[in-house]
Amino acid sequence: MALFDAMERSCALSGQLERPGGRRLVRIGAAGAFDNALTVYVPGCNLACVHCWAGPEREDPIGRSSWWTFDALRQNIRRHRQHSRLPAAAHRLRISGGEAVLSSGVLDLIDALLRLPGRLSLETNGVVLGVQPEIIKGLLSFGGRLHLNLSIKAGTIDQFERITGAKADAWEAAWGGLDALRRSGMDFELNALSLAPELFSRAERGAMLERLNNMDPSLRQRLSEERLAGYPDTLRRMATGPAQEG
Ligand code: SF4
Repeated sequence: MALFDAMERSCALSGQLERPGGRRLVRIGAAGAFDNALTVYVPGCNLACVHCWAGPEREDPIGRSSWWTFDALRQNIRRHRQHSRLPAAAHRLRISGGEAVLSSGVLDLIDALLRLPGRLSLETNGVVLGVQPEIIKGLLSFGGRLHLNLSIKAGTIDQFERITGAKADAWEAAWGGLDALRRSGMDFELNALSLAPELFSRAERGAMLERLNNMDPSLRQRLSEERLAGYPDTLRRMATGPAQEG
């Protein structure tokens, strides 16, 4: 399998999906998860994880998304909040789907969303944060209303390449992003599918925990270890291996 360069992919996607005053998005909606947080779904990703649960907009970020101005996005969120029958959606927002942190452009999206009341959760694989740690300063400037969840993909280089289809530089970048986050004092959590034997062998899980421990023993308390859920898009991708889109 030919491995791809995740940073090249990040730059290309940023150029296609981000522009001043707006962004390409898939949709917004509340699916009941994360206290029924209203989720802003972004298309595309700089990795191609074999277990990814995102919809086909990961492989086809342009064809399955549209441009939203930030004004229109806020209007839609206000409408959703007014009509939601589930109260938590009134104060929780989440950015998920593909990878939102492709460049410093993510700060514009966050700024747009935090003009609304409530708390915002951002999920990331951390790759771009390792290459452009100055983005973390921007994230910090939003204060305690922004919460980050970083997903650790692998404990070893071979495993990372096998799971994500990306070259190992991205693996080191993601660990660098985690280290920069840790030193910044920002509020964040970690997750890993390290209880999924389809993805993590016992040795690979051990390597991940050891690296975390060597970086900072307290990181272990931030880590949520998870099993693999059988989402339809996960099962589809697991059947074919890391995608070659790009
Ligand atoms: S699971 Fe992997 S491919 Fe899917 S959005 Fe997350 S980082 Fe990207």
